[in-house]
Amino acid sequence: QYKAEIIAVGTELLLGQIANTNAQWISVQLAKLGINVFYHSVVGDNLNRVKETFKLAESRSDLIIISGGLGPTEDDLTREAFQSITDLKMYEHEPSMDKIEAFFTKQKSVMTPNNRKQARVFEGAIVLENRTGMAPGMIVKKDGKIWVFLPGVPREMKTIINEGVIPYLKNELKLSEIIKSYVLRFIGIGESKLEHEIQDIIQRQTNPTIAPLAQSNGIVIRLTAKADTEEKAINLLSQTKEEILSKVGDYYFGMDDQTIEQVITQLLKEINYTVASAESLTGGKFIERLISVPGASAACKGSIVCYDSSVKRDILNVSENILHQQGTVSRECALELAKNVAQLLNSDIGISFTGIAGPEPIEGKPVGTVFISVYVKDKMHVVEGYEFAGDRDRIRNLAVMKGYEILLN
Ligand code: ATP
Ligand code: MG
Repeated sequence: QYKAEIIAVGTELLLGQIANTNAQWISVQLAKLGINVFYHSVVGDNLNRVKETFKLAESRSDLIIISGGLGPTEDDLTREAFQSITDLKMYEHEPSMDKIEAFFTKQKSVMTPNNRKQARVFEGAIVLENRTGMAPGMIVKKDGKIWVFLPGVPREMKTIINEGVIPYLKNELKLSEIIKSYVLRFIGIGESKLEHEIQDIIQRQTNPTIAPLAQSNGIVIRLTAKADTEEKAINLLSQTKEEILSKVGDYYFGMDDQTIEQVITQLLKEINYTVASAESLTGGKFIERLISVPGASAACKGSIVCYDSSVKRDILNVSENILHQQGTVSRECALELAKNVAQLLNSDIGISFTGIAGPEPIEGKPVGTVFISVYVKDKMHVVEGYEFAGDRDRIRNLAVMKGYEILLN
């Protein structure tokens, strides 16, 4: 199997002063080409350690992409390190040197000798023009391995990859394959259960590959197919999608960039229903996210944020009896809130959230206790109690997600 490795050079990366976004970005580009990245390495500006990192990469990877350390300063050591492990000669690349000189003339500043260093390239290297900076990129083919050298500045690195490296790799590695991906989105099922349900499909399937992933807004499965035509790739994807949905279709809500909020808004519009919410611990988050969908006005009536119990009592007409006997965080209170908000705001659906986001327990009930109730056309649809785990933020988010999940059903 063809293996790629990405090496980022720079002490500032090791110190945590900047994040290694270069490696992340390069990985995404290589994935699009169907090239497997097996390692990311980060090494400081230290000659010996850069050399060691290069040697290790040479021993285990076929394509080695290096970013950083091509600048003019003392600590830019990438050239020196590669030279000392390969004995390749270097020369001054004239077009690059002309460009650097022109830059200094234009700036009316004096070029220091170390700036010449940036125009130095390896003998036999393909030199990739740096349109947005000084040091050119380089591709060196040696002992069957491909080495790519790039400046660390993200803008320069990206331009050189797009304009020089990708066309080179496509041609050199004969990458004519088409790669297509689907992202299937699920809610109401955990990652491990989902994976368990489709385990046999995952195991016997290599094209498309199937990768489940937990995200804050649900679980996704990424399908990636390779084929020689787009149509074949899409066929492979559709087949596998059907297979997966035959097992876990109950939890599926949408594809690719579709969000649960969009899907719900769309569904409500289709059946011509409106929704209103009474939100205690969620503080309006539920309705806020629905309203962020363009066209939400056809489906969203509004919301009453009933955080304090006086609002539950005075605005949403929850009886003193319930507030004192069962408490504000109770099935009974949730029921009243959902029913009354639907009535007050003249909505087909009323949904309510009341619970304890923490950090302190309330009414003798533990943090994470949440009741959600849904009324549809003045009939109780659901009222359910939950015990969510996590901090305040997480509990509030889980409550909102659970609300969408209930609405979907
Ligand atoms: P220069 O000619 O600017 O010195 P260089 O090739 O020597 O370029 P570096 O000095 O390593 O590159 O990095 C220049 C800047 O680019 C860094 O200060 C940093 O902001 C950014 N940078 C470097 N490496 C990375 C990386 N891996 N991810 C994100 N940003 C990076
Ligand atoms: Mg530098």
